[in-house]
Amino acid sequence: MSSTYYLGRPLPGVVGETRRMCHVFPAQTSVPTRLVALCGVSFDREQLELLDGPRGMPCEPCLRSVPRPRHEVQLT
Ligand SMILES: [Zn+2]
Repeated sequence: MSSTYYLGRPLPGVVGETRRMCHVFPAQTSVPTRLVALCGVSFDREQLELLDGPRGMPCEPCLRSVPRPRHEVQLT
């Protein structure tokens, strides 16, 4: 299985430059024409550039919605 999430941000001109945040989208088996980020915003597929890593400003509500693995120290 590939990763559960992928990153994308609106292309220039779709939204204002200050709102071009890096959103987190749940991976899907098929590519829908409309993608909904974890924070609730939605974009048409052609309005987004998909990123292979975090770039630019991250969308905080999206990041908070991702269950992150924790590196916890085991006490012995
Ligand atoms: Zn977002």
